[in-house]
This record gives sequence, structure tokens and C-alpha cells, in this order.
Amino acid sequence: MKNLRYLTLLTAFAVLFLSSCKSDDSSSDNTDDTAIGQENRLPLGESAEDLLANIVFDRLEVEFVAIEGFEPRAETVANLQTFLEERLNKPGGIVINQRSVAAVGDAPYSTDEIRDIEDAVRNSFNDGSTISIFILWADGASVNDTQFNKTLGTAYRNTSVVLYEPTIREFSNDTGEPGRVALESTTMIHEVCHLLGLVNLGTPLTSDHEDPINSKHCIVEDCLMFFQTEVVGIVPKFRMKNLMDVTPLDPLCIADLQANGGK
Ligand SMILES: [Zn+2]
Ligand SMILES: [Zn+2]
Repeated sequence: MKNLRYLTLLTAFAVLFLSSCKSDDSSSDNTDDTAIGQENRLPLGESAEDLLANIVFDRLEVEFVAIEGFEPRAETVANLQTFLEERLNKPGGIVINQRSVAAVGDAPYSTDEIRDIEDAVRNSFNDGSTISIFILWADGASVNDTQFNKTLGTAYRNTSVVLYEPTIREFSNDTGEPGRVALESTTMIHEVCHLLGLVNLGTPLTSDHEDPINSKHCIVEDCLMFFQTEVVGIVPKFRMKNLMDVTPLDPLCIADLQANGGK
């Protein structure tokens, strides 16, 4: 019985950890470049410095859209505001505009289908000295999910992130699982950090801490940007952590952000 419980937990944590890192899908974008917002339809990592520094843009607007019924917890939104204010140089301010919209697609979603949803509902694009990012809370799972590997979130354009809220709910708030706010926030901020160019994804390395096997992730096990595909080693990490806390960035990742214009 104990073994079974352990196995169940082990599977759950392996799934969680693997999935928070399915974030490097920067495959080509077929969107018409002549349309408004073309600066927001570039490959992942292209706007890292623009997001971090106060050079071209001094203000950030976050368009934060949930499909009705799949909104994250209010504390998750507050955690995003706190993180962005801590790390981004935006003296003009950081504003999160939150709203919900009716379902517009059929789950499970491919990244192309998520792009289509974004194109249907996104209103906010770079404008003057304001840079815009788009965060979507989807009403279904990723089409890439398997029995063993589920995706919680993906960063898929230079200013776009999707979170698969039903999957996050499935793997949070039960005994031995992370709290809902902790899992929502950790996944969301991990994906936002890919927009900020971590790791070696538009923000240059200031030290040798990119995982040589799992590229664009950090080798430091306690870091928000850590990614390990092996199940062994993941469970002890999670079992030792407070499951109600948002995982923070380690000093090496913070140093990269600071060297690329962040705080
Ligand atoms: Zn990742
Ligand atoms: Zn790190």
C-alpha cells in the first residue's frame, strides 16, 4: 500500500516536473506579418532584453486572459505582479489587465491551435514605449500529453504563454501534491522566464549553468528553471520542499537577467 502510494506520488511529481518545462516550442509562425502586432509574433526569446531593460520600453502591459471557468487563483495574479516588479526595469509601470472570454477552441490543443486562440482574442500589442505580453489560461490540455508526461504550460512566442489550467488543477491541491496557487504560479513564472530569455534563450549566460541535456534550462536543482527528465531525483526534491511555496530563481539565473537589463 505504501509502495503504491509512493509510486502514485512519484508518477504525479514526475509528470508535474516534466510538464512545467515543455516550453521551448518556437516553431515557425505562419501568421501574416503585415498584420498589427507583428512585433509580438516573433520566436521565443527574441524580446528578452526588451522585456527586462528600460531601453526601448519603459512600461509593461500583461494581457491576462482566461477561458471562462478556468481562471487561476487571485493570489497567482498577485504573484505575477510581484515577480515582474522584482525583476523588470519598467519605471513606467507594470499593469496586468485580467479578463475572461468564452471558449473558442476544442481541446486538447496543439500549439498551433493555441496560436489561433491568441490571434482571436488578443487585443494588446507593443505600442510606443509599452511592451505587451499575453498569458492564456486554457480550458483544456495539451495535445502532446501522454500517460506519463503532461504539459502544464508552454511559452510559444516572444511575448506569449499558455497555461493548461485543467491539468494544473488535476495535479494540485490533493494530499502530497503542490497547492493550487503554488503550482499555477511556479508554472506561469517558469514560462514567463522563458520570455525573459532563460536559460540561454535570448539572455546570454553569465556563468556555465545551462543544463547540457535539457537545453534552455538550469542545472541548479533548486532553481525555478531546473528541468530533469529522470524520475529519480525529482521526487526527493519535491518531497523536501514546502509544496505551498512558489519555486524561486537561483542566483545564477538572476545574474543572467540582471546582465541583460533586468533587476
Ligand atoms: Zn521550461
Ligand atoms: Zn537557475
